[in-house]
Amino acid sequence: STPSSNEIRQAFLDFFASKGHEIVSSSSLVPHGDPTLLFTNAGMNQFKDVFLGFDKRPYTRATSSQKCVRAGGKHNDLENVGYTARHHTFFEMLGNFSFGDYFKEDAIKYAWELLTEVFKLPKDKLTVTVYAEDDEAYAIWNNIIGVPAERIIRIGDNKGARYASDNFWMMGDTGPCGPCTEIFYDHGAHHFGGPPGSPDEDGDRYIEIWNNVFMQFNRDEAGVMHPLPKPSVDTGMGLERISAVLQHVHANYEIDLFQTLIAAAARETKTADLSIPSLKVLADHIRACSFLIADGVIAGNEGRGYVLRRIIRRAIRHGYKLGVRSAFFHKIVPDLVAEMGDAYPELVSNQARITEILKQEEDRFFETIENGMAILESELASTKDVFNGETAFKLHDTYGFPLDLTADICRERNVAVDTDAFNAAMARQKEQARAAGKFKMTANLEYDGVATNFHGYDKLETSATVTALYKDG
Ligand code: ATP
Ligand code: MG
Ligand code: MG
Ligand code: MG
Repeated sequence: STPSSNEIRQAFLDFFASKGHEIVSSSSLVPHGDPTLLFTNAGMNQFKDVFLGFDKRPYTRATSSQKCVRAGGKHNDLENVGYTARHHTFFEMLGNFSFGDYFKEDAIKYAWELLTEVFKLPKDKLTVTVYAEDDEAYAIWNNIIGVPAERIIRIGDNKGARYASDNFWMMGDTGPCGPCTEIFYDHGAHHFGGPPGSPDEDGDRYIEIWNNVFMQFNRDEAGVMHPLPKPSVDTGMGLERISAVLQHVHANYEIDLFQTLIAAAARETKTADLSIPSLKVLADHIRACSFLIADGVIAGNEGRGYVLRRIIRRAIRHGYKLGVRSAFFHKIVPDLVAEMGDAYPELVSNQARITEILKQEEDRFFETIENGMAILESELASTKDVFNGETAFKLHDTYGFPLDLTADICRERNVAVDTDAFNAAMARQKEQARAAGKFKMTANLEYDGVATNFHGYDKLETSATVTALYKDG
């Protein structure tokens, strides 16, 4: 039999504990005191100040399983969920950290030992990448570990290219960063996709499982790199991705934990066919929403609360698509708690609140979704390629359809949204409100709020442009 994801999480922590690492609990999804960050997006977040030399810990080696949400900010995977085999909004990042202790050679040796000796992965299924100029990392892989040259790929700095691999890791636009080396697992030639760096790298044959970052710089607002006090190590391996490998399945959604959640979503939506993509989205979103609420996020009209509301509404819309017409999503919470409550007791202690908030949000959106969908469908019926931005604004303003929800539905029909017209309609309404002397804190502020507070969360990510960026859109 194969190990469960709960066992794999523990095996990772135990391995690094045996190498002198302190086991540190996950920090909250809401990063306290870091305005540059929307949600915790990596294991290293809670150690940011340790890397920068501002904070000292009683240990120089740590390991954790960190709750992460990538649904906005620099790392945004919301639009990937349901489309790729490997992306979630919420996921767990297993990590080991060295604060000025070991560096490249030991980091690589540990990773290889865990993967090939403890987890017993066949070496020839592993391909690694190194930062293009990092001859040192290349030599460690090649000479010390013995990975043949054909499975070591040099990758440059591809910032900006959505799908291109990028071997220079940054937490955000500022903060600790450095070159990295990544480990990919080859799921076999029957899957589409080429090795990292190849034109087909965005397929899902080769799946990135582990990133080892050599933290060496602090990037400031002007983009200048300042060397850190001590070279350090930060690694991240997606628990769901390594579980897929160890459970001999391809997609994250096929692992034990997701199978349970998908079955629960099927039960609550009365869906017989477990392979329907909406069920995966629901299984993904129930985790993100529940964990965000457990960490204190409240659904609302701006900032973090609006991201939560948008995810909830996307989930509701998938239920709607499956024929559901009243609150159902919150009924999956007990299944999630049963699955993950042992590892994350905050789910247990907040179960009632999570359920209540989700139910409220559902009741509210179910009041308008039907009429909104009717309008959306009739507009779509007369749409060729680009959905009317005025209608998208009306859906937003009157029916509570966030722009990204409308865009998501349109994307399923290969239609983009005219976001310029959407923004113009919003600006016009703001202007009218101002002229009327009203202090109307309309939902219009939502986008502004997110955009100004969180660098990198740009409207593009929810816009028509995005549709064009997706090859599989
Ligand atoms: P990808 O290229 O697949 O989007 P990434 O390079 O953005 O991944 P990193 O920032 O390097 O990911 O994060 C470290 C690890 O966390 C990845 O190697 C992967 O195992 C895991 N991971 C990253 N994003 C996700 C996600 N959205 N869902 C699940 N696991 C993820
Ligand atoms: Mg990514
Ligand atoms: Mg990557
Ligand atoms: Mg990576």
